[in-house]
Amino acid sequence: MNNKDKEMLADGETLASFSNLTDAEIGDFRKKNPGFVPEAWWRTKVAVESEPTGVALEWKSYQRVLQSAWQGNPKFSLEDSVRLIAAWSPPDASFTGVDSSEVLYAPSNMISIPLSDAGRYGVGSPSLPIFEAQVWPYQRAVMLLAIDSWRARTCLHCSKRFFADMPKRLYCSPRCSGDSHTAAKRRWFRAHGSEWRATRKKKPSSTRWKRNGKRRS
Ligand SMILES: [Zn+2]
Repeated sequence: MNNKDKEMLADGETLASFSNLTDAEIGDFRKKNPGFVPEAWWRTKVAVESEPTGVALEWKSYQRVLQSAWQGNPKFSLEDSVRLIAAWSPPDASFTGVDSSEVLYAPSNMISIPLSDAGRYGVGSPSLPIFEAQVWPYQRAVMLLAIDSWRARTCLHCSKRFFADMPKRLYCSPRCSGDSHTAAKRRWFRAHGSEWRATRKKKPSSTRWKRNGKRRS
């Protein structure tokens, strides 16, 4: 696996942990994954109709859309994916050199000018900075899930969302698959254990072993 692939998988895993994030875990997440989503998401409130107060922090509102795309049928539908990629992302100082720690505001009466007048307003003049759209790691991860939606999984043991690195993956972590196998064994033993012990007592193994370890036929 090359570095590009590793980075891609890491972005996917980070998006999965973002989707599981609780208020108490925000500090840790931000420390571990600086620049994964715009800084402004952690402090900017946006209007959310379903919220009793009518507003929610941007990260939370984004998380809700992400969770429904993850659980959706189909997962990461075209509409959900476009919505998640095109979500509000202010330019970041680290990318543009412009400090946008102030909340940005676009007035609804923002004017548009006809292309023929562009010259008069200085649009396109070399003195005006041109901002390319910044590509955020979370957007790359959404794009990946839009293409490989099978990767958007929910752990069979702990029910957390996780990003699968291969199709056969059913659990979010070795601990969850281990726990779940132990639990399955325990469940089986509770149901069939006494029966199993009884058969073992009744039927002593007919297999005898020679000293050299070979089985006698
Ligand atoms: Zn799990």
